[in-house]
Amino acid sequence: MAVEFILILLSPIFIIAIIMELLKRKDSYSIKEFLLNLGLALSHQATDILAMLALMPLFFWLHSSFAVFSFELTAFSVIVGFILQDFLYYWFHRTSHQCNWLWAAHVVHHSSNNMNFSTAMRQSLFYPMVGMWLFWLPLIILGFEPKLVLAIVALNLAFQFFVHTEMGPEFRLLGKVFNTPTHHCLHHASNPQYIDKNYAGVLIIWDKLFGTFVCSDGEKPRYGVVGYQYDVSFFDVVFTPWRILIRNIKQQKNIISAIKLLIEKPSKLK
Ligand SMILES: [Zn+2]
Ligand SMILES: [Zn+2]
Repeated sequence: MAVEFILILLSPIFIIAIIMELLKRKDSYSIKEFLLNLGLALSHQATDILAMLALMPLFFWLHSSFAVFSFELTAFSVIVGFILQDFLYYWFHRTSHQCNWLWAAHVVHHSSNNMNFSTAMRQSLFYPMVGMWLFWLPLIILGFEPKLVLAIVALNLAFQFFVHTEMGPEFRLLGKVFNTPTHHCLHHASNPQYIDKNYAGVLIIWDKLFGTFVCSDGEKPRYGVVGYQYDVSFFDVVFTPWRILIRNIKQQKNIISAIKLLIEKPSKLK
């Protein structure tokens, strides 16, 4: 699978970055949480491989039956595809924070009180089930080869590894266009002024265009999720959000209010 192959290929760079950060910022790591994050990454990759194997025939059928254009594989088409996928990623990420169904998976990424490169590996195995892949379908229908789309998704994900650190420089100039550690640390913050901001994958311009960009006001980010403290436990981190969501759905009077709850803002869950 393109996604996993690219991530495996880049893994020596990820390992070197983690070692460098460990040497400089030992206080932001605990061995227990590092192992949890690694387990979350592996379980996420496993379900992703299975889901992509199952979905590939659908992707190829959509591409061969409905593609509006036929893009040759050129540097230009890859760059256009990369920018479009990053735009779609922005909306996937923003929707994940606005809707209970997607938040139940995405909250895993936000459930740590620490920020370091290993936080990037903290992903839910439920991403394929909640339908992250649905956000890439416009690219396939537009005419991009499914394998190219998945490779671009992997590159976007790989870039995002490097914004999960408090160690990096500020990148003042690059940060006007690109997502940087400074921008993304604020995205993980639970301070009220930073919540639901900086959804960018690679390009921060989407936040600036759609009104979700925030700069630091000098207050240090406090990491974690508002209203819930997760244990350093695989089952708590992965399954508690679903347990809370299912409990709230069971309390609904009818199917309409249950569906409404699934697409409502996460803050209303009890
Ligand atoms: Zn997020
Ligand atoms: Zn993140």
